[in-house]
Amino acid sequence: MADLVVVGASLAGLRAVEAVRNDGFSGSIALVGAEEHLPYDRPPLSKEHLGDDEPRDPTYREQEKLAELDVELVLGAPAESLDVGNRTVTVGGREIGYSGLVIATGADARPLPASVCAPGLAGVVTLRTLDDSRHLRELLRQGTPRVTVVGAGFIGSEIAAVARTRGLEVTIVEALPVPLVRGVGERMGRALTSIHERHGTTVLTGVSVERVTGSGHVESVVLGDGTEIPTDVLVVGIGATPNTGWLESSSLTVDNGVVADETLAAAPGVYVAGDVARWPNALFDDVLSTPMRLEHWTSASEQGALAARNALDPASAKAYETVPYFWSDWYSSRIQFVGVSRADDEHPEVETEIVMGSEDDGAFVALYRSGERLVGALAVDKRAEVMQYRRLILNRAGWSEGLEKAEERRQRAAKKAAAQ
Ligand SMILES: Cc1cc2nc3c(=O)[nH]c(=O)nc-3n(C[C@H](O)[C@H](O)[C@H](O)COP(=O)(O)OP(=O)(O)OC[C@H]3O[C@@H](n4cnc5c(N)ncnc54)[C@H](O)[C@@H]3O)c2cc1C
Repeated sequence: MADLVVVGASLAGLRAVEAVRNDGFSGSIALVGAEEHLPYDRPPLSKEHLGDDEPRDPTYREQEKLAELDVELVLGAPAESLDVGNRTVTVGGREIGYSGLVIATGADARPLPASVCAPGLAGVVTLRTLDDSRHLRELLRQGTPRVTVVGAGFIGSEIAAVARTRGLEVTIVEALPVPLVRGVGERMGRALTSIHERHGTTVLTGVSVERVTGSGHVESVVLGDGTEIPTDVLVVGIGATPNTGWLESSSLTVDNGVVADETLAAAPGVYVAGDVARWPNALFDDVLSTPMRLEHWTSASEQGALAARNALDPASAKAYETVPYFWSDWYSSRIQFVGVSRADDEHPEVETEIVMGSEDDGAFVALYRSGERLVGALAVDKRAEVMQYRRLILNRAGWSEGLEKAEERRQRAAKKAAAQ
């Protein structure tokens, strides 16, 4: 029995524990994690951890720092089931009772279907864990492998960029006609894709992978249009699936994540956080009618802290409202996005306008509008800009306020340039 049980020992799970200990909570806490590793940071795994000669250790807190949190660590042991009525989690055949539970089991990389790629074929990788990253790092450093990346999403793009920066021949294959449409919209999806092209990475769009050849080790990737790409390393970056299998027999609603209310509550005493959580973000209720699931570092961290606080004090549970934020690093470019890039069918379509810089010189800011509301901002190599718009979006600012802010930022940039 523990007062608070946290399942999932990664970012959201660790932040859950840290938050309540920082608040002075002195009850018992158990942190259950499927991996053997202490909680570690994932963003570097597709960036510097693959590219740097001596990458830093991504562990958040060493053992002795974790011990300061006074937590029972149950690592290398996935939770197997949850009984909401009896308030117990089963781990390795042992039942752990709880007063409050935080589910923070994240998501796992989606593999290619077995009909397309034989499971276990050497040289074919996905990237979600530290072990995946170490393995891919080795593969990229053995000679000069030809690299194919399936999926032009953010993680696939980051890996392609690292491989290309190492001088490798890299091809990205994307089934959608325009990459990243779901993340940043059509026009900006094109603009971001051109970053790859400027660096000599081949991007093939609107074509899917028919089969992967090789006996024992990958040899080539055959596309739907018959093209065959000789391949030594195949990176599968086609998205992630929330880790909810262990909740099948629970009474929780699982639908592309664990569905929760605005306070992240999924059942009495049960709260969700991070990549596994799907909840109604009231800040965008005039743009999206359905609950949101994010796969972003910042929201996982914030949700972890709030879910644990709410789990320990459900009577004063607070709603989680956020302007989503993520960043991604490709080659030497920093891409940042705040807000939402899409609306659903019931709301005005989201339109995009570049308000600073240009797509051609590769450094710009674009704003997103839905009706008269400013709903998002994308910046490429304009690091100081997006947080300006994040504040506006948080205050439900109108489109005209977004344009005024853009004018102010342009003038400021011009003055700074003139002073140099
Ligand atoms: C390679 C990579 C690069 C990224 N880069 C960026 C970036 O640049 N910017 C950004 O904003 N976001 C980035 N992200 C996303 C960000 O890292 C995630 O949003 C964040 O890690 C989510 O944290 P989480 O704790 O919810 O889930 P996760 O980090 O997925 O952790 C969930 C943990 O739960 C464990 N688990 C699963 N099932 C069970 C079970 N049954 N019992 C016990 N434990 C279980 C898993 O093993 C895992 O350790 C990146 C993600 C990856 C994988």
